[in-house]
Amino acid sequence: MTDDSTLAPLEVARRLPGLAERLEEAEVDALVVTTLANVRYLSGFTGSAGVLVVSDGQALLTTDGRYRTQSAEQVARVGVADRVAIEIGAASVQRDAAKAFLSGVGRVGLEADDVSWSASNRWADVLERELVPTSGVVEALREVKDDGELDRMRRAAAIADAALGEVLPLLGEADSTGLTEEEFALALDTAMRRLGAEGTAFDTIVATGPNSAKPHHHPTDRVFQRGDPVVVDFGAIFEGYRSDMTRTFCIGGEPTGELARVFEVVGSSQRAGVAAVRAGATAKEVDDVCRQVITEAGWGDRFEHGTGHGVGLDIHEAPTVSPLGTAILAPGVVVTVEPGIYLPGVGGVRIEDTLVVTEDGSQPLTHFTKDVAA
Ligand code: ZN
Ligand code: ZN
Repeated sequence: MTDDSTLAPLEVARRLPGLAERLEEAEVDALVVTTLANVRYLSGFTGSAGVLVVSDGQALLTTDGRYRTQSAEQVARVGVADRVAIEIGAASVQRDAAKAFLSGVGRVGLEADDVSWSASNRWADVLERELVPTSGVVEALREVKDDGELDRMRRAAAIADAALGEVLPLLGEADSTGLTEEEFALALDTAMRRLGAEGTAFDTIVATGPNSAKPHHHPTDRVFQRGDPVVVDFGAIFEGYRSDMTRTFCIGGEPTGELARVFEVVGSSQRAGVAAVRAGATAKEVDDVCRQVITEAGWGDRFEHGTGHGVGLDIHEAPTVSPLGTAILAPGVVVTVEPGIYLPGVGGVRIEDTLVVTEDGSQPLTHFTKDVAA
């Protein structure tokens, strides 16, 4: 899984020009990009400190001496060296460069969702001008993935699929080995790294028995027991792009009683939601479809989170798939569909796939079997 020759290139050079329209909509002539994922998206730079100032299809990347070589290499590698100037130095050097880059430019935006109150005041002082708070400008551009991004997300999802396949037998033996949530999570994370992941897409969730009724449970030393549901929600990172998938298994065979019905309803809800994903649908419609199946089964009040979210450089990004999801899905948008039912004291079931929207439906990026027995 380390042969990159089959990956389509990232189309980074199209992004700065593509931002012009978004800046116009936000009524600014330039944008100070402080969100690191947005800096990476527009310039290829992956350092942990840096600011990208963007205006008129050109940009200035400022960062410190630790990233002198890396920044130049990365900007060149993604083909934007002609659009992105780089200034390296102490904070004062970076500030002066940003100020000079913006001289003569009209309204300047600052990413309001990323900067603190004090940071925004500092930026206004440094640039000696009033700044316009903006929201979601670069994030809106990031919603539609290019082929290179989709290839990387497919690779991340394939690594996660393969890793789960490797460690799943541990669940089958859990009854006799005394396996804990923490041990299984570690085995899964390790398998992903060994198979080529740069890291985990987020803290792996392994939740068993009553813990599975907590949607964002953190793994503990709880030992798996026969008949337990086990929610496993995890993902890999490949070249910056993340995957996200949830499967719920039942230790020692098929679930029984109320739990069997919960598995069935969540499965139907998830299949219905996946079938509702297509270009032109609103995110809310997908949520409605999932929620309706669960509500009709009598558990509407036990599905207490949104149906899904966008995925990409961040694990949660636009668009939101929830009752408030106004976004209209377009080809190339990547969303998750992850309904769940959580019964406190009993257990919970969630099933999640990540999908790329196509003209007439969707393609899954995650492929792992939904067989329940483990
Ligand atoms: Zn997830
Ligand atoms: Zn998710």
